[in-house]
Amino acid sequence: MENAGKFYINGKWVDPISSQKMDVINPATEEVITRITLASEEDVDLAVAAAKRAFSTYSQTTIDQRLGWLENLLAIYKRRYEEVARTISMELGAPITMAREQQADAGTAHLEDFIHVLRDLKLEETLHNGETLLREPIGVCGLITPWNWPINQIVLKVIPALATGCTCVLKPSEFTPLNATLYAEMIHEAGFPAGAFNLVQGAGPVAGATLSQHPDISMMSFTGSTRAGKAITRDAAENIKRVTLELGGKSPNIVFDDVDVEDRITFSVLDVFNNTGQTCDAPTRMLVQRSIYDEALKVAKRVGEAAKVGDPSVEGDHIGPLVSHIQFERVQTLIQAGIDEGATLLAGGVGKPDGINEGYYTKPTIFADVNNTMRIAREEIFGPVVAMIPFDTEEEAIKIANDTPYGLAAYIQTPDAAKADRVARKLRAGMIRINGAFPRPGSPFGGYKQSGIGREGGLFGLEDFMEIKMLHKP
Ligand code: NAD
Repeated sequence: MENAGKFYINGKWVDPISSQKMDVINPATEEVITRITLASEEDVDLAVAAAKRAFSTYSQTTIDQRLGWLENLLAIYKRRYEEVARTISMELGAPITMAREQQADAGTAHLEDFIHVLRDLKLEETLHNGETLLREPIGVCGLITPWNWPINQIVLKVIPALATGCTCVLKPSEFTPLNATLYAEMIHEAGFPAGAFNLVQGAGPVAGATLSQHPDISMMSFTGSTRAGKAITRDAAENIKRVTLELGGKSPNIVFDDVDVEDRITFSVLDVFNNTGQTCDAPTRMLVQRSIYDEALKVAKRVGEAAKVGDPSVEGDHIGPLVSHIQFERVQTLIQAGIDEGATLLAGGVGKPDGINEGYYTKPTIFADVNNTMRIAREEIFGPVVAMIPFDTEEEAIKIANDTPYGLAAYIQTPDAAKADRVARKLRAGMIRINGAFPRPGSPFGGYKQSGIGREGGLFGLEDFMEIKMLHKP
């Protein structure tokens, strides 16, 4: 890829000042795909300076002008769609069918929805007391994204920034940098003014921290680990930046005894395995009502043992590798912790799947008889690992479900609509999915408690990037 080693600053592909390099690894083969440069403070300063200069004019552009550039971008994205899917498959290890149908698709779905919402965005309104409220872009935004749903997370930050008249600097994950380079090429071709969007590649503690601490940045939007989210919040506090965070989860999935066990348990296990378990809102704590618990274990064991792991470049619904060696080691440590703490291993376990020696592949794993105090019930594993916990009553299920520092999503499986509704209102989480319903583009994505601050997507996602100004007239 021609621009992989460069940064996109002030409308041009530029050579970095830094000489620090990092290999981008294909997690399926452990081979080096290419090398990127990790930005220094000076590189980040140049990108922020370009965004700051551009803000004075870009913030004054009209919604119609921005809609024009966004519509150009949508057409270009559709044209380069297969390239996006193949790039994500190669650098993340997402199986190509899934990379095409889910990963790359998120880029189209969110952009289409933002265009739809932007058309009706009210930048001015009269309050009930007769005074005038204006909505204005907040300023230069620092955007830091992770590797697990890379284009999804880039689109959920870059598009609302550009749509609202903000300018921005994106620092994507150093593990999946190439889809961001592609996206920057598309933004360039779409005709956005120079400096409105800027891209630097780099590591969290240098490039990421320089953005969070930068006096010329007004807002940080971050998705990733709780650890990095705390560091960014502390760094951003120095000049009181707005910070939005989309962090982890340990989402409960309450399976009541009135379900079709075969259907709902199969769905629930496969939902965790999707994207090799590297999804922040995956239903990783499966709470099963005692009267169907034994039957549920049998189904889960069968589905776990039948799950196929394999080459992401091959079409199919198999599971790919984890993203990196570090992530492989993290997942192994937590699977071992589950065994050591006395959970029953129904399928999988530590190590690579039989017959696989290269690549960061891990065994799809199911634990039964998990207690909600165990590490595998409390910590985000970010691998294809399900923890099954029995419960007796609705009240107990709600209590266990809410007993977590996180509050991103919660899942309910029951054909009883009144029960689902009643339980949903007692769960402390930002998104409640009933019987496998999937969130539609435009619905706010985000969580309660330590799962984050703010919401992404649709109107709520745009509002996070805006300031409110009041006009008080005599
Ligand atoms: P991470 O939080 O370290 O990385 C995410 C992004 O933050 C990357 O772009 C990284 O460069 C940047 N970053 C890291 N430290 C930073 C700092 N001090 N200042 C500014 N930016 C910083 O995530 P990871 O180490 O790749 O994954 C670790 C764990 O995080 C995973 O096991 C998983 O539990 C969780 N995670 C959650 C999500 C999510 O969608 N909520 C995504 C990725 C990872």
